[in-house]
Amino acid sequence: MRVDDRRKPKLALWKFSSCDGCQLSLLDCEDELLAIASAVDIAYFLEASRFQSKGPYDISLVEGSISTPEDAERIREVRRRSRTLITIGACATAGGIQALRNFKDVDQFIATVYARPEYIDVLTTSTPIDSHVEVDFELRGCPVNKTQLLEVLNALLNSRKPNVPHYSQCLECKRAGTVCVMVAHGTPCLGPVTQAGCGNLCPSCNRGCYGCFGPQETPNTASLSAWLTRLGLAPREIRHAYRSFNANAEAFRKESLRHE
Ligand code: SF4
Ligand code: SF4
Repeated sequence: MRVDDRRKPKLALWKFSSCDGCQLSLLDCEDELLAIASAVDIAYFLEASRFQSKGPYDISLVEGSISTPEDAERIREVRRRSRTLITIGACATAGGIQALRNFKDVDQFIATVYARPEYIDVLTTSTPIDSHVEVDFELRGCPVNKTQLLEVLNALLNSRKPNVPHYSQCLECKRAGTVCVMVAHGTPCLGPVTQAGCGNLCPSCNRGCYGCFGPQETPNTASLSAWLTRLGLAPREIRHAYRSFNANAEAFRKESLRHE
């Protein structure tokens, strides 16, 4: 990215329908925060500061999905004011856990949860940011991995492509020498179809991956489902395995529908 050499790039963080966890990942970069603050001008980041600069912004990091009419309008405005727009996390890149509504009738959920459903104004679906505006790069995870987040910022500031893997979590296990929980213990694991990047968190703790980084580049979900069936999972359990934080990601959505 090219910005005027005389000024620091303006960084903005935007929240849509989400839990704030991905924004927190940036604040969690404790050792690197001062370096970030000296490299960019933090122009809009309500979770960290009340200061608000009007923009335009050089880099916008966007957390959250589009699940209300107001979200749909606001993301277009954010896009207009941003030179580079990066989506961060499962909500922004796939619709998030709130996209479970996409498989059901949202009015039924609202009537069950809220005492006064008539006050609730939501879209019938929760969708990722790239369903509404052009996105320049997407960073997966629930929440995002802070090392990857730093890598993306570093890459942008140095006009290079971010080095973020698109292969599967299984490769991380092999590299780390982690014993496969599925082969060794018969524990169901979505690692073969899930994008790496979390730092091998779950298998290294002897538990299966539940897919929070979303589908890898070429996921063979049908093959994994056959494995899960051999491990004794019923179609309902396989469906539920694919329907979590990335339920609306195309590969996971399609595979879950095969087990309706
Ligand atoms: S534990 Fe999961 S992610 Fe790791 S190798 Fe086995 S199937 Fe793949
Ligand atoms: S192993 Fe899977 S579920 Fe666990 S943190 Fe990594 S991607 Fe997420």
